[in-house]
Amino acid sequence: MTRPVRVRYAPSPTGYPHVGNIRTALFNWLFARHSGGSFIVRIEDTDVNRRVEGAVAAILDGLRWLGIDWDEGPEVGGEYGPYFQSQRLEIYQAAVQRLIAQGDAYYCYCSPQRLTEMRAEQARLKQPPGYDRHCRNLSDEERRCLESEGITPVVRFKMPLEGQTCFNDFIRGEVTFENSVIDDFVLLKSDGYPTYHLASVVDDHRMEISHVLRAEEWVSSAPRHLLLYRALGYESPIFAHMPMILGTDRSKLSK
Ligand code: GLU
Ligand code: ZN
Repeated sequence: MTRPVRVRYAPSPTGYPHVGNIRTALFNWLFARHSGGSFIVRIEDTDVNRRVEGAVAAILDGLRWLGIDWDEGPEVGGEYGPYFQSQRLEIYQAAVQRLIAQGDAYYCYCSPQRLTEMRAEQARLKQPPGYDRHCRNLSDEERRCLESEGITPVVRFKMPLEGQTCFNDFIRGEVTFENSVIDDFVLLKSDGYPTYHLASVVDDHRMEISHVLRAEEWVSSAPRHLLLYRALGYESPIFAHMPMILGTDRSKLSK
């Protein structure tokens, strides 16, 4: 069954729009308008520390200035709202509870200090960086003990330790990642906010997004997202990762 085209532009209000984001918005909008689908704007404001005052207004004004209109999102509303992730926290928390109950996610109590030391040690040993899965197999007893110390945990995804995750990118074709190189990434932060990975998967599913068109810098997130779709029993959208716009020095044009 082919799904109606529903695409989204999902900026994080951590700064003012730049040519890279605008191009992503434009491609999504063109694709929606070309196929008679819907173009949705979703504000990914889950990084409380990096929120920039006035960024949402600047993003929306930028779209208006370009004549890019949106069918659902801030100001216009829609059936799948709210369209600000900060207003959807219970939805992400419910998904996380489900993943924990299924054994696909776990609480991690590691202190920032322990993680910093771990990273320094990995750098010293020239090992790839990543969480060392210290809390992956804690017993109930150990967990209760850590809870009683008043530590608020984060929740991490239990990555498969072997195998590969493959998908067919609309632009790049077959893409394959080794699961073993991806660490147990965080789903829910200790402040109760989701990470980008969790929020984006939950929302793309709930908002019935058919195609995810985004810049190539997100391609390494795709295997994480696919595994999350699978664990949550969701059908994944079609991914299309677009080449980045680079400066004359080949650095990313995003600042
Ligand atoms: N919030 C992400 C960004 O800042 C969205 C990435 C995506 O499209 O999945 O670009
Ligand atoms: Zn831990």
